[in-house]
Amino acid sequence: MPKRQKTPKRGPATLAIHGRERRRKAHHAVSTPIVQTSNYSFESMTEVVEFMTAKGQGRIIREQEYGRYGNPTQQEAERKLAAIEGAGRAILFSSGMSAVILTLMAYMKKDGHIIFTSDCYRQTRDFATNFLTKFGVQNTIVAPDAKAIEKAIRPNTNIIFTESPTNPFLRVLDLPAIVQVARRHKVLTMIDATLATPHNIRPLELGVDFVIHSATKYLGGHNDLLAGVTLGAHALLEDLNKLQRMIGAIPGPLTCFLLERGLKTFPLRMEHHNRAGLQVARALEKHPKVEKVWYPGLKSHPDHIIAKQQMSGFGSMISFLVKGDVKATRQFIDALEVFLITPSLGGTESLVTQMSTMSFFDYPLEYRQSIGMTDNLVRVALGLEDPEDIIADLYQALAQI
Ligand SMILES: *Cc1c(COP(=O)(O)O)cnc(C)c1O
Repeated sequence: MPKRQKTPKRGPATLAIHGRERRRKAHHAVSTPIVQTSNYSFESMTEVVEFMTAKGQGRIIREQEYGRYGNPTQQEAERKLAAIEGAGRAILFSSGMSAVILTLMAYMKKDGHIIFTSDCYRQTRDFATNFLTKFGVQNTIVAPDAKAIEKAIRPNTNIIFTESPTNPFLRVLDLPAIVQVARRHKVLTMIDATLATPHNIRPLELGVDFVIHSATKYLGGHNDLLAGVTLGAHALLEDLNKLQRMIGAIPGPLTCFLLERGLKTFPLRMEHHNRAGLQVARALEKHPKVEKVWYPGLKSHPDHIIAKQQMSGFGSMISFLVKGDVKATRQFIDALEVFLITPSLGGTESLVTQMSTMSFFDYPLEYRQSIGMTDNLVRVALGLEDPEDIIADLYQALAQI
């Protein structure tokens, strides 16, 4: 009989369903049980002493101790996320933003400097400009480009924080080029890859140190939970693990159950998102009432070549300009029947937003226009409905302006 390989390399669908290894679940359950408890008991003082002694020596003889330090449902979701990303470790948080902020806080330095790329998630940018500066941590926001990043490096720079693809213009960064710059200057790299997901891009394999996702989006995938995750090499994540245990910004057991369940269909859902994204982006580009479309899978996108090299699919978020003023744009959105008016992305339902009204309402008009948030900019995040129905809905709504 041929000798069985100890850890066979599994495909993405198998990893999404079983993780790297099959573990016995409580009560022989097939699905991951929701362990709704805040703390865990010991059978005897002997067991406590054994546990504490091992812990002091850096050995973990049981994972459960106190709720803030982790929950079995959470640990199962973390193991599966690490398997899907090809990471040594995954650390879950109660939201994408708590993953972003706590990862920055765990690795930033006193009097240090962090480089962010423009067109990144608004709350991340606001945290950098309004909060980090209060603690004496400087930041520079540069164009999403390796050369601009290298130019911004200072002697005290210790983190490059990027996002790819960006939101809403879906700029795709040349990650190997950024990694080269970071290594030359001994700087850590972090990427918020929420819009790409591990299905479409593999930043760790390209040399990035930390990958962050808002699991609220494609990973959860059903518009029904909030969570965030940071992934990377096991030892590198230890400082973040300590901070997570201190702060306890973790998702509850039910959220972890929903996330872990959602992950089972993650590769299937992504195949659909990628296919629908391209189909709908092409249909929009053809329409006479659409002025411009941003989708990395289209030849017209400024980063199409890099996107094709780095990504295996382009997701289902599409930004476009309708031919019309603020009133016509709102009329178009109101006429949509399949889409729900709300931000977010990556779930089962298709969503639509007018960026200038929903994400940038409180910014001065001049600033909004300087960063391209014009009133006729619409962002759609496709769900899992039939792409033909989505196209028909967009076309009937465009016909009304
Ligand atoms: C949604 C999102 C976040 C924030 O995630 P939450 O789960 O809403 O906190 C961060 N980055 C990107 C790119 C996002 O799309």
